[in-house]
Amino acid sequence: MSVETSTAGSASAAAVFCADIGGSFIKFGVSRHAGEVEEGEKVPMPTASWPGFVVAVQGLIARYGNAFPPDTPLAIATAGLVSPQTGELLSTNIPAFTGRALAAELSWQLGRRVTAANDADCFTLAEAHAGHAQGLPIVAGVILGTGVGGGLVINGQLVRGHGGVTGEWGHGAIVRTELTLEGHTYAIPRRPCACGQTGCLDTLGGARGMERLHRHFHRRDSTSRQIVAGWRRGQPEAALTIAAWLRLVAEPLALLVNILGPSKIVVGGGLASADGLIAALDKRVRAGVLHRYPDLLVIAGKFAHNGGLVGASVLGRLA
Ligand SMILES: [Zn+2]
Repeated sequence: MSVETSTAGSASAAAVFCADIGGSFIKFGVSRHAGEVEEGEKVPMPTASWPGFVVAVQGLIARYGNAFPPDTPLAIATAGLVSPQTGELLSTNIPAFTGRALAAELSWQLGRRVTAANDADCFTLAEAHAGHAQGLPIVAGVILGTGVGGGLVINGQLVRGHGGVTGEWGHGAIVRTELTLEGHTYAIPRRPCACGQTGCLDTLGGARGMERLHRHFHRRDSTSRQIVAGWRRGQPEAALTIAAWLRLVAEPLALLVNILGPSKIVVGGGLASADGLIAALDKRVRAGVLHRYPDLLVIAGKFAHNGGLVGASVLGRLA
């Protein structure tokens, strides 16, 4: 066997440790090829303590990393946005990371290369490299989870953009204030968003937003799962909520399509698996864009529920 030096070829064949960090858990795995991860264990995330977080990661690497070279890199998908200028985590719900340059500081403490990106960006990387948008030139990833998020991959490369917020289509004062459906005009609430603005789609476009919309129309608390199930059964109250939700979500998505010209929009997060919802969204978006897409445009992702780890396996191998 020939001696392998650090060429791009050998680097892509080597292992990468992958971690997906959320508000509650660290999910860990080992990847031997981009787009594939052998999932390890899930440990509690010490959200308030940086030293506690470092110890948790060191423990995972010690348990799973013995068979691998000591310089095996670590790639991280994390909640929050990673600034490409400073590497600092922005708008994260993990206090331990506030003001930290996550990758640089962790790399120094672990003595190995560490790369980090937002979990929506990692989901998009996973779909563009190994998922339902594999090999396509322009891939927009859309998260419809608790809230709304997104990422953009062009020619296989993650577009971080100025400030690291590329693809965050759910923010800005974009929600309309009224909506006419089948001859009736309804007021649409413009709610304050965690980003500091008012009227962001993030407040109405995810699962919690769908529930808020239902409460606004019907003065009734239902879960997003119940609302989608009611819509599928033809229940009138749920039908109104979903009709409004589809319009509110499809309009900014259609604008995103007109600007970017994506080959596919892949959807991740909890609502990606809601029965029939993404197909209905696809129909509405395609009806509202300039280019006529003959095939499906908005589709549920292959990695809707583990895109963070799989995307990290790609991220850790990007130049
Ligand atoms: Zn916002």
